[in-house]
Amino acid sequence: MTADAAVQPVAGVDVASQTLWERMDKRDLARTMLVGVSTILVLIAGHAGIARLPMGVFSVLVLVIGCWEMLVEAWDDLRKPRMSMELSMLLAIIAAAAIGEWVSALAITTFALAAEILEDLSMDRGRDALTDLMAFLPARVLVRRTADTGPGRARSADEAGAPRDVVEEAVQEIPLEDVVVGDLVVVEPGGRIPVDGVVENGSAGVDQSRLTGESLPVDVGRGDHVLAGSIAVSGALEIRVERVGEDSAFGQIIATVREAQDSRAPVQRLADRLAGALVLFAIAAAILTFVVTRDARATISVVIVAGACGIAAGTPLAILASIARAAHTGAFVKDGTHLEVLSRVDTVVFDKTGTLTAGRAEVVSVHPAPGHDENEVLEAAATAEWHSEHPLGRAIVALANQRALTPGEARDVVHTPGLGVSALVEGRRVEVGNARLVPGGREVEAPGGTTQVLVAIDAEWVGTIVLGDSVRDSASACVDSLLGMGISVLMLTGDNEATAHAIAEQTHVGDVRSGLLPTDKHTVIGQLRAEGHVVAMVGDGVNDAPALAAADVGIAVGSGTDVARESADVVLVTSDLMDLTRTVQVARSARRTIMANFVGTLIVDGIGMVLAATGVLGPVAAALVHVTSESVFILNSARLIPRRRSSEESPSRT
Ligand code: ADP
Ligand code: MG
Repeated sequence: MTADAAVQPVAGVDVASQTLWERMDKRDLARTMLVGVSTILVLIAGHAGIARLPMGVFSVLVLVIGCWEMLVEAWDDLRKPRMSMELSMLLAIIAAAAIGEWVSALAITTFALAAEILEDLSMDRGRDALTDLMAFLPARVLVRRTADTGPGRARSADEAGAPRDVVEEAVQEIPLEDVVVGDLVVVEPGGRIPVDGVVENGSAGVDQSRLTGESLPVDVGRGDHVLAGSIAVSGALEIRVERVGEDSAFGQIIATVREAQDSRAPVQRLADRLAGALVLFAIAAAILTFVVTRDARATISVVIVAGACGIAAGTPLAILASIARAAHTGAFVKDGTHLEVLSRVDTVVFDKTGTLTAGRAEVVSVHPAPGHDENEVLEAAATAEWHSEHPLGRAIVALANQRALTPGEARDVVHTPGLGVSALVEGRRVEVGNARLVPGGREVEAPGGTTQVLVAIDAEWVGTIVLGDSVRDSASACVDSLLGMGISVLMLTGDNEATAHAIAEQTHVGDVRSGLLPTDKHTVIGQLRAEGHVVAMVGDGVNDAPALAAADVGIAVGSGTDVARESADVVLVTSDLMDLTRTVQVARSARRTIMANFVGTLIVDGIGMVLAATGVLGPVAAALVHVTSESVFILNSARLIPRRRSSEESPSRT
């Protein structure tokens, strides 16, 4: 799918503002009314003693019109073959018609059609809760581009220190789908931010409530990351585009919605399977009833009651609503199956650097080895780390920039996740990393919680760089809440033991494994799973990708690397770790709702079948029970749909 295909259809369409009436499918409504009125006519005609033949012909005609779509779908299911709701409904209708119970057949059809309208409307509301987030991106955006150099090369005039009219560049308005990575997007005060990127110029208060539910604007300035879907409430921004269209946090949500709409999600298949099982059960019960009672009416009533399946009706909606709910708290769940797993998670494994810590490391001090000087060490390290995505590498490069050092040219650069980086600089081999990579290096006295990076040139240790990273504000609260929910928490890190323990203490994590290579992290996850644990892994780095894939559910923090975000099943869009806790809670309530529907279905069907078999429930009453119970379960799932937030209303987190 191309980026524009993902963004275009929803941009600017505010589905959510339509009224219930506007959204209702008028043909469905007309069909339902037709069958409903016919039911009453046939009922009256029956009492008036009209001949059975014309009544039968009329009823069959109305039934065919009413059930046509159901018939088509059921035929499809039969050929697959696959059991479905449509099949179970049709079974009941045909059964009633077969014994000339025209009123029952028509009544069930009416109820079935009405239930379908109800379900469609509820599903729509669930989808809206998701697309509502998207509906909102501007269709056209302002970009600053130079006349000839094209996208991605433009530099701001202010930055270049030249007056604007000298540099050939202009702000132009283009469609959102034409924006490419590297463009400089201009957002005016009050404007909506259309892309994920880094602020290059300007500062503003940014409202991220559509992504996170947090209503307080965050102040951003040069160098800060902003996400598509937020609003620059005060101040103007120029944003260097990092991700656009389907790659942006928002775009990924659209992609999921589309997938959920186009394909039968695994959960839906599960629901259909359960429905299928119930239908077989119904047929068995019907046969038993007939053998025992020899009463066709009672037998048909049993089929009608037992065809009800609250689980098939309620599950897709419960999943969709929960994905929307998670999205509103700031977590992007890629597929409904991950929610199911998340509800059963009993162990959460955190990576340290960039996950429990903010990943905004800063150099605390540089310690040259005897005979070397500080800037030499820093310059060599920065040259090797120049294109590093690792928080430690970025911090080293940042300090070198700040000191206006001029790094040389690095060739043959090799990043080894969990160890460090090695590069050829002016014919000499520079290595930057931990003691495994630089065995001859020496660590220095440093405050707890800091990380040491050793630097070697041609296998000779030249110095040690001490870096500090702050623990995320949300880390300890998240760990506490997970522990409170009965989930065990573990920290895995490639860093050394002392640092690992200092960070573990600050974040309340009791169980720590340090000095791990990426493959070790993967192994630990495998062991935990082998012991029967359901494991969630939370990480940010390239080094976490294997572990994210190996866990039952992989969770990436939004500030992490692309690799981590791609390997993960859930992305915490704004890197607030409390969103993880909230998503687990959402997953658990989804599970509770689905289980309640399941148990409810069993109880209603069980009691209903006994009453039908003993003749207490006639076919019409059976149909009423069937449809009412299904509607109740749909409404039960609908409770999970997050309430819409308008920008004026202050959001309430649940
Ligand atoms: P974590 O598992 O805590 O996320 P990593 O696996 O990313 O940590 O890194 C583990 C250790 O490897 C770091 O503490 C550092 O010593 C070293 N290291 C990894 N990548 C780099 C790099 N690009 N530059 C310097 N050191 C690195
Ligand atoms: Mg990490």
